[in-house]
Amino acid sequence: MKNIIFDFEYLAPKTLEEALTLLSQYDEEERKVIAGGQSLIVIMRQRLITPKYLIDIKGLSDLDYIEFDEKEGLKIGALTTHRAVEKSPVIQKEFSVLSEMEKNLSNVETRNWGTIGGDIAHADPCGDPAPVMIALNAKLKITGLNGERIVNAEDFTLDFYETALQPDELLTEIQVPTLPPNTGIKFTKFNQIIGDLALASVAMSITLDGNKKACSDVRIALGGVAPAPMRAKNAEEILKGKKISHALLAEAGQAASEEASPTADIQASEEYRRELVKVLVKRVGREALARAKKA
Ligand SMILES: Cc1cc2nc3c(=O)[nH]c(=O)nc-3n(C[C@H](O)[C@H](O)[C@H](O)COP(=O)(O)OP(=O)(O)OC[C@H]3O[C@@H](n4cnc5c(N)ncnc54)[C@H](O)[C@@H]3O)c2cc1C
Repeated sequence: MKNIIFDFEYLAPKTLEEALTLLSQYDEEERKVIAGGQSLIVIMRQRLITPKYLIDIKGLSDLDYIEFDEKEGLKIGALTTHRAVEKSPVIQKEFSVLSEMEKNLSNVETRNWGTIGGDIAHADPCGDPAPVMIALNAKLKITGLNGERIVNAEDFTLDFYETALQPDELLTEIQVPTLPPNTGIKFTKFNQIIGDLALASVAMSITLDGNKKACSDVRIALGGVAPAPMRAKNAEEILKGKKISHALLAEAGQAASEEASPTADIQASEEYRRELVKVLVKRVGREALARAKKA
């Protein structure tokens, strides 16, 4: 009997409106949305959830797109696969940090079917796209039958696997603003097995002033070291307005590791994860700085 999924009724809406209507028709406890199923099926097999109705949105091709415009920035439909993001020429050119992140996300099979929206909506604190989106200052479009609303990526995940989505809403689009001039961004995750989820991850965006000397803006996002991906704001303050040196990055790393609130699990202790943050902030910061100087 182990690993056998309970029976469910399969519903395949053809339009977004149909999907939202189905969501509003069934009790929240009884139904679940499925996109690529790369995370959902795992927890269904473990019987952590046993939905009676599965609403499959993977066929909503209107939510599968990548668009870029200098002024508007990048728009990614929630149902775009990880692989499409990884391979997109415009993303490789304008937001290479996203394709780099995708290249190290799981294996190619998962990337071929799993969606970027599903990853963010799943809200695993160790997921890769969320911290990168926070560093990129992205916004998320959420759609319900009553209309759309926009939420900052950093405000989307509330707790372990909990998001700002209301029960009858879907995540429909990820919006990434065009990078300011003199900006460098880097993401690194630390894991024990290649392609696995992060034990800790850091995404950092550094913007330098016109002379490329002082740091005019910085965003540091941490993954895997708190119930939700978070900004390390004390660490950011250490770098803002200053000429970034290795010593200053070490100070920021120390501050970030103190701001994090990691939990211990079978893979790593709390102290180990704090140490990872300390090291990764320094490492990622050096690379983001080098990229900002070249930008
Ligand atoms: C072997 C393996 C390794 C993995 N490694 C990584 C890794 O290294 N990094 C990483 O980040 N992830 C990793 N994952 C997780 C997985 O890749 C992502 O979570 C996955 O891409 C989720 O997308 P999906 O379309 O498959 O979502 P699904 O599994 O279909 O759904 C996930 C959850 O999101 C909800 N959902 C989906 N789409 C929407 C939407 N548009 N609006 C609202 N709710 C929605 C579903 O109801 C469900 O609760 C791994 C998974 C596997 C199986």
